[in-house]
Amino acid sequence: MKIWNKAYMILLIKKVLAGQGSLWVAWLNSYVFKDKNFWSVEIKPSTSWCMKRLLKMRMEVHQLLSTGAATASSIWDSIREKRPTVPWQKLLWYPMHIPKYSLITLMAFLHRLPTKVRLQRMGVIIDSHCVLCSAEPESRDHLFLFCPTAASLWESIFSLSGLIFCACSWGDFMTQACINLKGKSLLSLIMKLALNTLVYLLWEERNKRLFQGRSRTVEDLLKAIKDVVRLHLKGRTFNRLLTVNFNLCNHWNITDL
Ligand SMILES: [Zn+2]
Repeated sequence: MKIWNKAYMILLIKKVLAGQGSLWVAWLNSYVFKDKNFWSVEIKPSTSWCMKRLLKMRMEVHQLLSTGAATASSIWDSIREKRPTVPWQKLLWYPMHIPKYSLITLMAFLHRLPTKVRLQRMGVIIDSHCVLCSAEPESRDHLFLFCPTAASLWESIFSLSGLIFCACSWGDFMTQACINLKGKSLLSLIMKLALNTLVYLLWEERNKRLFQGRSRTVEDLLKAIKDVVRLHLKGRTFNRLLTVNFNLCNHWNITDL
């Protein structure tokens, strides 16, 4: 988001340099730059906060403009840090993904969620027991995979999709998911939606229990996952003549209206 914001600031600077685009640009030229321009105007204490930020980017923008980047996305692409893609990216980002669910799942994949085990390592808390089962330390792998609540939800989700859930390590589980959930089939779409929703709802449930003293049962959570999948796919066009799709729509209660 920070880089994306910066890309739009650079785009704004391009408009200022072109001397066109809005009344604001005309106002800048007449009342802020006066006989100077974007490159030569000084930053004064009276300069607005917004203008200061744009002026402080002059050096960087000067180099970037020589690359010819013209749109927000091309600017973003030239200033962002490029890292190799990860095999599990398509489990999170796919057509019809739910951004806030994918974001929490991304944080789980990257080990960025402040689980109790992480907070204990940082010396923030002493008790690291899982708030869902009170039996094991609350690590990422436990909370989202091995905790009886998580395992029960996974079993139900797999069963609804005609699959069998096998408990294994987080790495093996996600490797299998990457291999099996490729493509655009309804099964793949449902399972990706369910995966992201499950992680989001478990994290939400953990926070509700910790900070609000409220709790839902496994059945409540399963119903919530089923509702998300059902409402998200309701009315979409699938080949319901295929037996696999017909069964999926029945089990997940996905109607075509
Ligand atoms: Zn647990």
